[in-house]
Amino acid sequence: METDVIYHVFMIGGIGLGPGAHRYFSHRSFKATRPFKLFLMFCQTIAGQYTVLFWCQVHRVHHKYADTEKDPTNINRGFMFAHLYWAFRFSPECKAALETVDVSDLKLDKDVMFQYRYFPIFSFLLCILYPTIVPYLLWNETLWISFWANMFRWLLNYNQMSFANSLMHMYGKKPYDKNVSAAEYLFCILYTYGEGYHNYHHVFPWDYKAAEFGDFTHFNISTIMLDVCARFGLVYDRKVVSKNMIERRKARTGDGSNWLTSNEILKNPIWGYGDIDMDVDDKIDFHGYLFDQNNNIIDKKNES
Ligand SMILES: [Zn+2]
Ligand SMILES: [Zn+2]
Repeated sequence: METDVIYHVFMIGGIGLGPGAHRYFSHRSFKATRPFKLFLMFCQTIAGQYTVLFWCQVHRVHHKYADTEKDPTNINRGFMFAHLYWAFRFSPECKAALETVDVSDLKLDKDVMFQYRYFPIFSFLLCILYPTIVPYLLWNETLWISFWANMFRWLLNYNQMSFANSLMHMYGKKPYDKNVSAAEYLFCILYTYGEGYHNYHHVFPWDYKAAEFGDFTHFNISTIMLDVCARFGLVYDRKVVSKNMIERRKARTGDGSNWLTSNEILKNPIWGYGDIDMDVDDKIDFHGYLFDQNNNIIDKKNES
């Protein structure tokens, strides 16, 4: 039962971070109805990572001044700094940048400021009390186990953001801009359900997909969720980048790699042996024979 709770609350927290604090509040990459915005804030509070206002302030500065002294999570200061220590060690340049970065849109948002004002109360109720008390009341879990299971869940959520600041700026390919530290890293893509296309995201931060591709084969679960919400009218004005602009940028500053295109992940998706899309190389055994569906030799591989 506890693993269920950890998993579900982890997912809810992740929605508050990826589509919520990140794509919606920080980057304004799509618009949302008020109920959906409140839902995202609810999830973000469960995740337990600062107020929406502060989260976005830090993240906007990170984008504007990435890899410099002004960057709050400057990767040039090492993995541990970008992953964890940054929150306790803002440089003077960074503090100045945090004060001047534009967050006027958020300060005009009454809901955002309401959360900001009463954050300790909301945080205690939603991030700590609610996930602890529900298993205790409904499934007779002990408070001790419930509390620590939720703390573990909080840690998992916290690391989603932390890996975005550390690993995503250390490892991976850079198909869009080889001059920035942000890169595309599969582990982070899976762990954050689609936020790990960080090279693309730093180049085109206004794209609501936070990636070139927003489909299931690219593990972009957050984008699929937003697309479903758009069908119900909860999300609208989703901003994207044209294929043309992406290709031009890739040619100009990319590292020549083509990380995680559909073909790379699911090279020729097929239903099984005999599918019309099956690659001829896959049908040929190591002796060079081509087989039909009944395993009868029908041809020898043409060596030319
Ligand atoms: Zn971002
Ligand atoms: Zn980044």
